Amino acid sequence: MKIKFLTIKILIFLVLFSCNAQETAKASLSSNPKIETTNPKLIVGIVVDQMRYDYLTRFNTKFGDGGFKRMINEGFNCKNNHFNYVPTYTGPGHASVFTGTTPKYHGIISNNWYDKEQKKIVYCAGDDGVESIGTENKAGQMSPHRMLTTTFADENRLFTQMRGKTIGVAIKDRGAILPAGHTADGAYWFHGKDEGVWITSSFYRTNLPNWVNEFNNSDAAESYLKTWDTYYNIDSYTESGSDDNNFEAGFKGKEKATFPYDLAKLKDENGGFDILKATAYGNSLTTDFAIAAVKGENLGLDEVTDVLTLSYSSTDYVGHNFGVNSKEIEDTYIRLDKDLERFFKFLDETVGKGEYTVFLTADHGAVNVPAYLQSVKIPAGYLDFNSRKEKFVAFLEEKYGTKDIVENVSNNQIFFNKSKIKELGLDLHKVEQDLVDEQISYPNIAKVYTATTMNSTNFTTGIEVLLQNGFNQKRSGDVIVVDDIAHIPYGRTGSTHGSGLNYDTHVPLLFFGKGIKQGETLQKTVIPDIAPTISALLGISFPNGATGVPLGFVLD
Ligand SMILES: [Zn+2]
Repeated sequence: MKIKFLTIKILIFLVLFSCNAQETAKASLSSNPKIETTNPKLIVGIVVDQMRYDYLTRFNTKFGDGGFKRMINEGFNCKNNHFNYVPTYTGPGHASVFTGTTPKYHGIISNNWYDKEQKKIVYCAGDDGVESIGTENKAGQMSPHRMLTTTFADENRLFTQMRGKTIGVAIKDRGAILPAGHTADGAYWFHGKDEGVWITSSFYRTNLPNWVNEFNNSDAAESYLKTWDTYYNIDSYTESGSDDNNFEAGFKGKEKATFPYDLAKLKDENGGFDILKATAYGNSLTTDFAIAAVKGENLGLDEVTDVLTLSYSSTDYVGHNFGVNSKEIEDTYIRLDKDLERFFKFLDETVGKGEYTVFLTADHGAVNVPAYLQSVKIPAGYLDFNSRKEKFVAFLEEKYGTKDIVENVSNNQIFFNKSKIKELGLDLHKVEQDLVDEQISYPNIAKVYTATTMNSTNFTTGIEVLLQNGFNQKRSGDVIVVDDIAHIPYGRTGSTHGSGLNYDTHVPLLFFGKGIKQGETLQKTVIPDIAPTISALLGISFPNGATGVPLGFVLD
């Protein structure tokens, strides 16, 4: 009895004492609110849409000291950084950078894909269950609900009890929405047409914040509907092809795709404010909006780390329109360099030099215009999907008596109608193999694989690894086709992307700012390494599906 009584006394004492200790700790916390933290006040994750690695080196002599070169000189340059999956498209690219994994896990298998359950094409960021905010147009009905895993920004929100903010900004909706993740305070994208405004969706909030309304009511977008001429004398642009050539699309209402472009005059024939998207000014407008976002949301002002995700979409529109080798691309990167310089200067002044951390990468690269490659004797070409389809339908009808065993062909994948195959008493694996044998005989198809192979074999080298990392068992098709190198389903002007080849996978990866070493490496890094590296810098959990590894050599 006595012993028990003593134990209780000790317990009471301990409880009282520990409460006291907590009180003391609390008191010292509140009396010293400025706790020294080693974490950056702001993380800025920049994606330059369609930026090939060699743009950094090709246009190097044209860049100033405050943009790309500042990141390289003060920070860390991963010179051999690649996408490790196909398809190399915008939606999967943005998701992979911020979730630290590939479509196999985050589920964004393309920009648009055939949904096997709903039996219709869905858009990676589309969401009928939410409303547009800031426009009557449906352009705001978007959310990240199809992305299955968290971004590092989500993990920062969880870690900081939702005190660290996340804001996503891009001209493209998917470029703003997927990086910012599921728990973002806001994601904003540009709605052109005759409105020229930044909008969001009811997934985030019920109305636009004042700073967005103020921005939309200013003449910011309007002010860029002016003449686009080269930043420097065009004769000094020796890093790109001649301005007048057969490989560029240009704008409607202008005979030649040559500088200068009178945007005010051309806008009516080219989608109103949408014309800005395919000019260097789209990036300037994005920078203006990002600065307004940092100010309006007070990002990076306290000790709790905030996240700004910023995607420059115009580089992609310009690439699609004019191609990798154009004067327009060169000028777009020269001007983007100026925009980055302006943005970093602004962050120095508001958040403080050395108080924030930036990384810059891309969502995919791009191939040179195949018609141009052909003109210099490099194997390249264009895919004829119509004749491919005709041949395929004829094969299905002859072999199975119906073309209905195939439900959809998209993104280089063939989706079966499983109930039809069952109804006809066919063996699924036999059908898979029949289609492989048939497709591999077609012109410009280099490889064909089955879903069964993707699910049962663990590839360690080659394009097969990239296919497997891009293959999501629930969402992907039953037969997967790989096209010949530098062959694209596209018109003969401008360029595109999507393959697992170096021109599409090799992209910049630059880190600079707080916690980042100065240096460079030629060691291979992959896109999913970025998010775990930022997580490691912040000391927070990795995104829940992350497959990449932290790049310890870039961290101080
Ligand atoms: Zn893209």
